[in-house]
Amino acid sequence: MQRLGWLLVALFCTLKYTQFAHALPLEPAKLASELKLNSKIIRVRLSDLGSSLQIKGNGLAASLAMKPELGNVQADEWEVDCKHSKITQPTTGKSRIIPRSGILIEALSGILSINGHHFREQVVLYPKELLSPYDSSIRTNSQCLVVNHLPVEKYLESVVNGEFNSKWAEPAVEAQIIAARTYAVYQMKEMRKDRGRVFDVESNQKDQMYLGLDVADSKGSELVARTKGIILTDPHSHTKNCPIKAFYSASCGGGTFLPGQIWGGKFAGFKKVKCPYCADAPSFNWNYTLSFHEIEKRIVRGLSNDANVRKSWPKAYLNNPSQWMLSNVRVTSDAERASNIIFDFKDGETFKVISITSNAYQVRNWLDATQLKSTRFTMELKGRSVVFHGKGSGHGVGLCQWGAKKMGEKGFTRDQILTHYYPGFKISKIL
Ligand SMILES: [Zn+2]
Repeated sequence: MQRLGWLLVALFCTLKYTQFAHALPLEPAKLASELKLNSKIIRVRLSDLGSSLQIKGNGLAASLAMKPELGNVQADEWEVDCKHSKITQPTTGKSRIIPRSGILIEALSGILSINGHHFREQVVLYPKELLSPYDSSIRTNSQCLVVNHLPVEKYLESVVNGEFNSKWAEPAVEAQIIAARTYAVYQMKEMRKDRGRVFDVESNQKDQMYLGLDVADSKGSELVARTKGIILTDPHSHTKNCPIKAFYSASCGGGTFLPGQIWGGKFAGFKKVKCPYCADAPSFNWNYTLSFHEIEKRIVRGLSNDANVRKSWPKAYLNNPSQWMLSNVRVTSDAERASNIIFDFKDGETFKVISITSNAYQVRNWLDATQLKSTRFTMELKGRSVVFHGKGSGHGVGLCQWGAKKMGEKGFTRDQILTHYYPGFKISKIL
């Protein structure tokens, strides 16, 4: 019975595979249907799309990403059930499981939509399991792993308005495009060292906000074209035109930080600079209050989603978090910045106290990075609540976006803005 079952499964899979792989007539000259992967094409993981996808476009060709020679199936619509990694052609009802090597979907027109959002060129669908080495939270949600492949310069046309605003002073926008291009090129180089990885950047705040074609405009495209191929490089590197990891954030709160202060590790060549330009930023001064009870809940949630940090927390706490009551919160600072947050927990029965020190940047993400806007904060205890008083928004490393905007309005040039926030680095043309 067992053996017959397997045989049936194998036969069923083969049938589905054959139906899918056999091509409808097509004109190869018009449709590449082949994965383009080179140094000009960036692979962007489209995050936060939801657990089911509707992919639409004129004559969307779906093929096995690694076997384009088997041909493709064309349809104007495809549906994807992310939880079960299944793709279906709704008009015929035919479906198949997405293989680990991916399904490539390409539009004849060059544009396709996913759940109503428009994207250029190609998307590749992978089963979500491929993400687990890079994102431990993936096991607990049903998101698809969808990767948009498109030329870096086209990607930047969308990043302009995802990260900043093409209508801002031109020198500021150009400086930010150069920072965004540098960051993208750096990530492409670094991420491709891991051959199992199928994307270079994420489309959200983890890397750069990329919202596809819906936010691209002609002004942004014009400024991307004007800065074509220009990046920031490290003049001390042995490699020619070595891109730096050009971090940037919304507003630094009065001065920038070193990457090592935020994430640890070594990033040679970065310097801290004063920034008298971002005081008009919308989140320059902020306050945020959290009760001890709420902090306890968010710590438990943060730990459950973060296997790496969990390793550094004491077993006594992890074995039974509900046994421990938060009794105090303290902060250690390093040049106007919170570096660590220390939580004192008291055992409800024995009154034993344990103190756990956690990186402030990490804790900020657990507690809600949209409210606890930066790590440039001080803390005040009010009963069983903590009031955070802060300045700036984001990690504060590299270019300060609101500061750059102001510099542009004051008449600084693009290169002066870049040299201010990335002193010691070189502005180079790589194309
Ligand atoms: Zn600033």
